[in-house]
Amino acid sequence: RTHGALLELRDVHAYYGDVECLHGIDLTVDQGEVVVVLGANGAGKTTLLRSICRLVRTKGDITFGGKQIGGKSTYDVVRRGVSMVPQGRGTLVDLSVDDNIRAGGYIRRDKEVEADVRYWYDVFPRLAERKSTSGGSLSGGEQQMLAIARALMSRPTLLLLDEPSLGLAPIVVRQLFDVLARVCAERSVAMVVVEQNAALALDMAQRGYVLEAGTVAVTGAADRLRNDESVRRAYLGY
Ligand code: ATP
Repeated sequence: RTHGALLELRDVHAYYGDVECLHGIDLTVDQGEVVVVLGANGAGKTTLLRSICRLVRTKGDITFGGKQIGGKSTYDVVRRGVSMVPQGRGTLVDLSVDDNIRAGGYIRRDKEVEADVRYWYDVFPRLAERKSTSGGSLSGGEQQMLAIARALMSRPTLLLLDEPSLGLAPIVVRQLFDVLARVCAERSVAMVVVEQNAALALDMAQRGYVLEAGTVAVTGAADRLRNDESVRRAYLGY
């Protein structure tokens, strides 16, 4: 299954200064696949995403599209097709909604930027209505939508999402996951989703990983995780 994976991590260790926070992670993501990452606070989920987009020092093999990216800069990794929606969304609060979306396409030189902006307003009509208002005046749910549109403006083949549902009302969370599923299907974007809302995330994902103290404790198909005793107790609450 790992042959020809879009993303492959082999024995990846990550460090903050001298402190090792990931202790040999193996993980793969196939083209167009949705992978969920579960784990308690401090388990290393954010660090895992930061390792992929080169925001933290690592050892071990990280390949994307068959090429090593371990030694590359964040800019290079974005250019190759990785985009991240960070926890807290990273809204450019003083810029308009429209400029926030366009900022995500800064790296592109092609002529389809306008078509993509229209696509995102079609996916998120609420953002179209508010395109001239400042990013900072949006609600939490709207900012999450904005962050996703902005991240996808670079036309990534892999989207990294760090707790997209954090702080959102349940109905908004449901809409958000519906949109992510639509985008994944229409644009065949692979996703790695770090998420506390395990039930919803497992519904959307094909596979998952449970991190515990910087290592992979459980991994498998979404179905298998849903039925795993420890996953149910810790993340599904039944
Ligand atoms: P959370 O859900 O709370 O964000 P997480 O699973 O994403 O948790 P990480 O944020 O990846 O966990 O943190 C993993 C470990 O790395 C923790 O022990 C944390 O204290 C440590 N850590 C995270 N960021 C830093 C940093 N900038 N400097 C030093 N240690 C850090």
